[in-house]
This record gives sequence, structure tokens and C-alpha cells, in this order.
Amino acid sequence: MSKKVLVCGAGGFIGGHLVEYLRRQGFDDIRAVDRKDRDDWYQVHDYSEHLVLDLQHRDACFAAMKDVDIVYNLAADMGGMGFIENNKALCMLSVLINTHLLEAAKEAGAGRFFYASSACVYNGEKQTDPANPGLKEADAYPAMPEDGYGWEKLFSERMCRHFREDFGIETRVARYHNVYGPHGTFEGGREKAPAAICRKVIDAKLGGHGSIEIWGDGEQTRSFMYVDDCTKGTTDILNSDILEPINLGSEEMVSINQLVDIVEEIAGITLQREYKLDAPKGVRGRNSDNAMIRELMGWEPSISLREGMEQTYRWIYDQICDRYPARGAARVAAGSGDALVS
Ligand code: NAD
Repeated sequence: MSKKVLVCGAGGFIGGHLVEYLRRQGFDDIRAVDRKDRDDWYQVHDYSEHLVLDLQHRDACFAAMKDVDIVYNLAADMGGMGFIENNKALCMLSVLINTHLLEAAKEAGAGRFFYASSACVYNGEKQTDPANPGLKEADAYPAMPEDGYGWEKLFSERMCRHFREDFGIETRVARYHNVYGPHGTFEGGREKAPAAICRKVIDAKLGGHGSIEIWGDGEQTRSFMYVDDCTKGTTDILNSDILEPINLGSEEMVSINQLVDIVEEIAGITLQREYKLDAPKGVRGRNSDNAMIRELMGWEPSISLREGMEQTYRWIYDQICDRYPARGAARVAAGSGDALVS
């Protein structure tokens, strides 16, 4: 536990939780890096070193990597489907982060390097049926990933592979399937379905209006992994001998309508659903197939969607009440969507 750990994207949702999890695991030399001003980090932990650096720049990556043994690269320009469908170039520019970090890790002789990939690498043709039986790791090829964001993830996965094969860097790659939980974004345009739906239901509840806007017809399906399962799975994968990209997600697939049912039940409210059929909605059906991670690591998610959504709802509710004290919940950042992403 005396190793120096670098967490890139530590001001973001998963990165903030990962720093906390690593600390609980006994790591006390953690360097947390993000390009956002410190005031904008979702979580700031007193015990870690904080650097504000734009990791698209090579020099910044070399500075971040100084004396580092273990690297978690979670830094990326990303958001829900509304963001990634409208910002493909920005998403692809994240390739600079992983490329420069790998080069810096090679120079620094870092022992292990984790890369956060995504279910968006999977071939779109295998995701046209809402009753998706689950995407296996092999389903990423032949390549037809999500345009922009998914291509960048697939390319960076390959980059990790070739740095391992050619330069001996111990890279590990997880394909996250929709991660959710407290301390993430829930308004402003980058939020994903679980947080956006919580916000909209809270907005309706506090604002006293009885409707919710849903992107698409609500029959598109996804699975969602609670962030605590994600952080544990991430460190387990880093420490494993699994060389190829592996799914890290839940197999508890629901439609967006079912996700709204869950949040309505938590809130104790039933809303009129208004379907925005021309909104970005992503693929029709996506689920994780966990056969490989179950077999190789014995990993299973431990938190049900209902439990995790309850925690998420409570946290967002408190945030909204704090941010909009004069009852402003009805005015909560209108205009952002219930976008899906993996
Ligand atoms: P997030 O947006 O909350 O966190 C990403 C962080 O990276 C942000 O704080 C951002 O400021 C930082 N960042 C972006 N560009 C940077 C740069 N040039 N230099 C330094 N920092 C930079 O996202 P998240 O949900 O925590 O996702 C973490 C990782 O997991 C990302 O790589 C994402 O693509 C991947 N992922 C997330 C999900 C999900 O459902 N949340 C699903 C699949 C994959």
C-alpha cells in the first residue's frame, strides 16, 4: 500500500469515488488529477494530492506521472447521449489523454495502467433488439461502435494492448456499462439516464406538476451499475491477470419506462409521461454479459438497481434542495435530457 497511485479524472463522478475507495483499501499516497477547477470537483479528499492539469497535453501527463506506480485513467470528455451525439470531435480528442498517459507511463516505468473503456465500443448491429441477451466481449468486432465516443474508446483499448505487447506496460481495460450513483452530474447536459430521471421526478414533485419528459418511446433497454460495484470491480481488474478488455456492468436490464417506474415508486408519485421521439436515444437494447468476469474473477454486482436508485435519488434530492433553497426545484436546470450512455 506504499505505492503511489495516480487517478486521472478524479474530479469526476467515478474518479471521485475511486479515490475514496482506494483510501479505504489502505492506499495513502494518491495523486488526484483533473482539468476542472478544484471548486468544481464532485469530491475533494483532504488526504490526497490534487493537481489541476489538462491531460490532453503531453507535458501535463509527464508531470502527473512523476514517481507513480499505478495509474487509473478515467479522464475523458463525456456525458449522456445528448452530449456524445452532439460532440463527437470533443469525445474523440480524449484520445490525446490516453495516448500521452501511456507514453508517460512507459517513461516512468509505471507498474500497472487501467483504462476505463465503455460498452459504447460494441457493434451497433448487435444492439437493435430491446431484449438484448447481453453483449459478450467478442461482440466489439467487427468494429461498428458508437460514432465519436465509441471509436475513441475502441482505439484507446487497442493502444493499451499494443503498449502492453510492444513495451511491456501492464495495461488492464474495463468496459463500463452505465454507472450511476451519488456525487455525479444530474443537470446541465452531461447527465445520464438515472440521474436525469431522478432530477425530473424531483422537479415534478417539488414543483407540483404532474408530467415527465422521456427521450424516445421509453422501451429502449439498458443495464445500470452502482458506483460502489464499479470502484471495486475496477481495482479488482487492475490487480488481475486479465489482459483483454472485460465487461464491468450489471445484467439487470430494464427499459427506460421501467427505470421511471422505479424512481416514481421511490418518490411516491405517478407522472404523466411525455415521449420526445426525436431526442437522442442511442442503441435500442444494451445489456452486459458477465460470464467472463464471473468465471475469471468471481465478480458480481452487489447492489440492486432499486437499492442504488434509492441512494441516488436521496442524494440528488438533497442537492436540489440545497442549490435551490427558495423552492427553486421547479426551476432546476431545464433543458437537459435523460440521455443514455454506457
Ligand atoms: P465524468 O465526466 O464525471 O469524469 C471524467 C473527468 O475527466 C471529469 O471530471 C473531467 O473534467 C475529466 N477530464 C476530461 N478531460 C480531461 C483532461 N483533458 N484532463 C484532465 N481531466 C479531464 O465521467 P465519469 O462518469 O466519472 O466517467 C469516468 C470514465 O469512465 C470516463 O473515461 C468515461 O468515458 C468512462 N465511462 C463512464 C461510464 C458512466 O456511465 N459513467 C460508462 C462507460 C465509461
